[in-house]
Amino acid sequence: MKQKIALITGITGQDGAYLAQLLLNKNYRVIGLVRGYNSSNLAGLSYLGIKEQVELLTCDLLDISQVFKIIEQVEPKEIYNLAAQSSVSLSFQQPIGTFQFNTLSIFNILEVIKMLNKNIRFYQASSSEMYGKVNHLPITEDSILHPLSPYAISKVAAHFTCIHYRESYNLHISCGILFNHESYLRQNTFFVKKVIQDSIKITKGHLNALKVGNIDVRRDFGYAPKYVEAMYLMLQQENPSDYLICSGQTISLREIIYYIFDKLNIPHHLCQIDNQLYRPAEIEDMFGNNAKAKAELNWDYDLSIFQTLDLLLNEELENSQSL
Ligand code: NDP
Repeated sequence: MKQKIALITGITGQDGAYLAQLLLNKNYRVIGLVRGYNSSNLAGLSYLGIKEQVELLTCDLLDISQVFKIIEQVEPKEIYNLAAQSSVSLSFQQPIGTFQFNTLSIFNILEVIKMLNKNIRFYQASSSEMYGKVNHLPITEDSILHPLSPYAISKVAAHFTCIHYRESYNLHISCGILFNHESYLRQNTFFVKKVIQDSIKITKGHLNALKVGNIDVRRDFGYAPKYVEAMYLMLQQENPSDYLICSGQTISLREIIYYIFDKLNIPHHLCQIDNQLYRPAEIEDMFGNNAKAKAELNWDYDLSIFQTLDLLLNEELENSQSL
């Protein structure tokens, strides 16, 4: 039987690396599109021991002729679109660049799929941030979208671009609307990774205190290696659809900090609020209902947020021994 070929954009990111690992284990040929690469952005693939097993091609996703050439040459069965300027905070500083890349790249890929081969299955990394100003919890696939950041606005535009191409051209496009998910490979500017790394630095005497912004907001956190399974499952369905991928639980950022501090015997007063770290607009509370993903995709997820934090802390501690 012919080996299945998957194309992953954003393969150098957290989800890209775990998804590549999952697909390699399922005997796919995995090709990653990168804007450029070096030892630092290949660190995730190296950490998982799969750097040599994936094939990397450079591609500017904003240039449709490059996208066309690669898809024509590679003939993927599935495309997982994970590349994005993914930081909400950074999007307030770079709204136009965030919107431009996160939306135009989708148009380019979907136009090429429409032109070349409508049987290619496409996964889009949508985000819970699209719901923003929440009226009703838990969020479901039918909740109203009200984005509160340039990042979220870009993800809403990309999401509706996907729905438009699915409905208008009958393409197999599924959007995973993912809530925050974490792992050892998370960029260290993201909240949970920063809390864990800085807390370990405090225990080693390398840092005096943890500086944070508004920690009374609540979020739904999950474990990234389990979330990428849902991406794969979406593209195996006969019919495409959109799915919330979340833990279904909510926790305040303050509780996360105190949980990690308690595990490491750090006094709570070493958590210090820095008003500079507050965002112009903030989602107060958000958690989702994952019933559709569990029922239709058979996605099994039963980790509590505290179990996830334990996994993250233990892996970070193991890797920090040499520091
Ligand atoms: P990361 O930030 O870890 O990875 C982002 C990837 O996109 C990297 O490979 C990065 O490449 C690439 N990228 C960023 N900007 C550009 C650009 N201008 N041109 C080309 N490539 C670019 O994100 P995650 O793996 O955490 O997330 C994957 C996807 O899921 C993203 O679309 C994100 O928005 C979305 N998402 C993530 C959630 C989460 O909690 N992690 C929640 C909901 C949605 P490089 O290495 O070159 O920087």
